Amino acid sequence: MKAYKFWFIVGSQSLYGQDVLDTVDVRAREMAQELSGCLPFPLIYKVTAKSNSEIADTIREANYDTECAGIVTWCHTFSPSKMWINGLAGLQKPWCHLATQYNVEIPNEEIDMDFMNLNQAAHGDREHGFIGARLRLPRKIIAGHWRNEGVQKRLGDWMKTAVGVAFSRSLKVMRFGDNMREVAVTEGDKVEAQIKLGWQVNTWATGDLVREMNKVTEAEIDALCAEYESKYDIATDNTAAIRYQAKEEIAMKKMMDRNGCMAFSNTFQDLYGMEQLPGLASQHLMAQGYGYGGEGDWKVSAMTSILKAMGEGGNGASGFMEDYTYHLVEGKEYSLGAHMLEVCPSLAADKPRIETHHLGIGMNEKDPARLVFEGKAGPAIVVSLIDMGGRLRLIVQDIECVKPILPMPNLPVARVMWRAMPDLTTGVECWIMAGGAHHTVLSYDVTADMMRDWARMMDIEFVHISKDTTPEQLENDLLVKDLIWKLK
Ligand code: MN
Repeated sequence: MKAYKFWFIVGSQSLYGQDVLDTVDVRAREMAQELSGCLPFPLIYKVTAKSNSEIADTIREANYDTECAGIVTWCHTFSPSKMWINGLAGLQKPWCHLATQYNVEIPNEEIDMDFMNLNQAAHGDREHGFIGARLRLPRKIIAGHWRNEGVQKRLGDWMKTAVGVAFSRSLKVMRFGDNMREVAVTEGDKVEAQIKLGWQVNTWATGDLVREMNKVTEAEIDALCAEYESKYDIATDNTAAIRYQAKEEIAMKKMMDRNGCMAFSNTFQDLYGMEQLPGLASQHLMAQGYGYGGEGDWKVSAMTSILKAMGEGGNGASGFMEDYTYHLVEGKEYSLGAHMLEVCPSLAADKPRIETHHLGIGMNEKDPARLVFEGKAGPAIVVSLIDMGGRLRLIVQDIECVKPILPMPNLPVARVMWRAMPDLTTGVECWIMAGGAHHTVLSYDVTADMMRDWARMMDIEFVHISKDTTPEQLENDLLVKDLIWKLK
């Protein structure tokens, strides 16, 4: 991942005299330095801006700097907002308005009009807020003291989300073959996706992959198999199947890296010239941060790579998931999620096992090797991006993952068990009403708030199903959103 940075732009004006401006400058530098030490990305203090041209020049520079993933603004003093219009009107990067102040307390004895002139963030940030609202710009507003842990956590989450925006805008998706025949929800308008989200989604023939596989050497396969052995327990004697998956992984990785792709899809209906559907191969690629979608689902593949990039260390615990079956025993209602093979090991509670089993569906001539494990317990989200025709809708549901309540010894795939919010059946009703897909990205690492911010920055519809959602309220919300998004 690129060495992303964020720019700190402090608003002021020349009215206060050089002493005040010097103090603002020193403090802004100190804040940026200290915050850089505890945020996931550096915050670079750029300027205490006093004029229209200073702001416009800095924002123009930010737009063109490929390492700048967003700007953070704050007004230590009052900064008249007409100075900001030309700059902000041209802003192409995510924007966070940090409504903070240098000091945490009002000093009882020392406070006088000099103190008030220097420390008037409450005043300045309102003028700054007005112009954001007046320009109708997407922005994140975070209020509170800059040393407060909650404020720093929210600013850090916003930074990760802004990196998700930068990642999305340069994302290339490699499709091996087309979508699974007749499926509706995996279809979509690739031109609209590129306009809104930046994704370059293109198809390569399965034959191109087979040709690449034929060029993989035994030494390359040896090296990758040694890596598998170091990371996973080998629970099969079928070494040939593991070596075949290694060959598939090496070939897919080479093709993606050569073309700058960070996400891929394939389908069991088009494995022409291949012996096995990539299972272990796709799982280990996901572990390295590549997005994946089964059955040609390029939307979920792209979203998987974006949520990974938004997670801890730029490759968080997020993976491709599919709702499979329910446990509807009263009081113990759960969903069981899995896929034919391809569940990312970043979701695993324990060390995954490599197993080989027969796969009846698709064109598999031989039993594919795959990683088998149970998902972690804990709060998580599932995310689905659907094409509503003319617009994209992002649906996020809060879920609580549990250790699977049954051992399921004959289930030959990785599995995650969870309860959707607000409860399983209401949650399912809401998800279905909103049109959420069976394919999702499941993430322990990215929050619904982060996805709301991401959707706002990308200018797409956002639907959140949480513990407080009711079907009645959701139905009304969807009706209103349908109208709004037709007008937009
Ligand atoms: Mn599927």
